[in-house]
Amino acid sequence: MNDDTPAHAKPETLAAQALGWVDEKTRAVTPPVHASATFIRDEDNQYRSGRAYGRADNPAFDQAEALIARLEGGAQAALFASGMAAATAVFQALAPGDHVLAPKIMYWSLRNWLVNFAAPWGLQVELIEMTDPAAVRAALRPGQTQLVWIETPANPLWTVTDIAATAALAHAAGARVVVDSTVATPVLTQPLALGADLVMHAATKYLNGHSDLLAGVLVTRADDAHWQRVKAVRVQIGGTLGSFESWLLLRGLRTLYLRVRQASASAQRIAEHFARHPHVAEVLYPGLPGSPGHAVAARQMQGGFGGMLSVRVKGHDPAAAEAAAIAAAAHVRLWKRATSLGGTESLIEHRASVEGAGTPVPPDLLRLSVGIEDCDDLIADLEQALARAHR
Ligand SMILES: *Cc1c(COP(=O)(O)O)cnc(C)c1O
Repeated sequence: MNDDTPAHAKPETLAAQALGWVDEKTRAVTPPVHASATFIRDEDNQYRSGRAYGRADNPAFDQAEALIARLEGGAQAALFASGMAAATAVFQALAPGDHVLAPKIMYWSLRNWLVNFAAPWGLQVELIEMTDPAAVRAALRPGQTQLVWIETPANPLWTVTDIAATAALAHAAGARVVVDSTVATPVLTQPLALGADLVMHAATKYLNGHSDLLAGVLVTRADDAHWQRVKAVRVQIGGTLGSFESWLLLRGLRTLYLRVRQASASAQRIAEHFARHPHVAEVLYPGLPGSPGHAVAARQMQGGFGGMLSVRVKGHDPAAAEAAAIAAAAHVRLWKRATSLGGTESLIEHRASVEGAGTPVPPDLLRLSVGIEDCDDLIADLEQALARAHR
């Protein structure tokens, strides 16, 4: 980057200034939108600009990739057209026959893809209890297991996996470790420093933070052969991010630290408030001292436990509890009834309805994505919705 940012600048500073980049030609402090799909070839038939065609690369990626790589402490980052495009590229860079471990509790669409696409394509996909190191040790096949996929905290039960312990086991067996850190963000967790080889984000969520684009990103610790294959997947399959989305993502990243810290602080308050509520059976949030993942989360997350939690609504029997959960979601006025997460606005959803048959999600569960609104407003709205649902 063409800037004077001191090497010791804190991540908050790097994000707020997008690495201090200034346009050399115009002295603009924000970048232009580079929309070109193609680039001029030199008269002597070379491409000295290093760019030929928009599916392979785009100057619009450079700054966001550099900033995200820096915030994660990685060697390189690569933007993708969605979180799913980024995640699936990691698996598509493997070979048929390779054995991979993934969690039973994880982002629903990716688990579906692993089971319904990656497995028929030839990957040996094994879903395990990733939060349990003994289960990881038992499932690893030294020399055959190529990849261990971690999501922490994991959708939508917010289970916590010990990245350092799992990476030590995986590395001893010769497997690579990838962490879906969408919910933790670099603000709260540094997976590469804990031993992960790759970090993946649905940048659709907190990194962009405004619910107005789809994007994904991978960050690698090392520029190795697997990383080169991952980048080849992006170019050849074409899950390339658009220019305008890249520009918007960089704009969203400038406020990442403010947004994530506010959402985390509010989520902690909301979790504590509803953990002892007459209409709530259980609150799932790693920030609650009684929660199963709390000890590991307290070690591996800094400055908060994230903006995501789930609430299990009470009922006389399972059917009544499910009906009460759906009714509570119907009665909110401030919270928006929608899927996704990580935006400025708070979202609520009846998760089992989204995931459908075969989901491990309890039918009485409401997933909450806490935004940056006034926290008292959010609590009051949930209070009135639960009260109406139980009337
Ligand atoms: C949303 C999400 C994804 C997928 O990202 P898309 O941008 O929707 O493709 C993957 N992992 C997690 C944890 C997510 O929340």
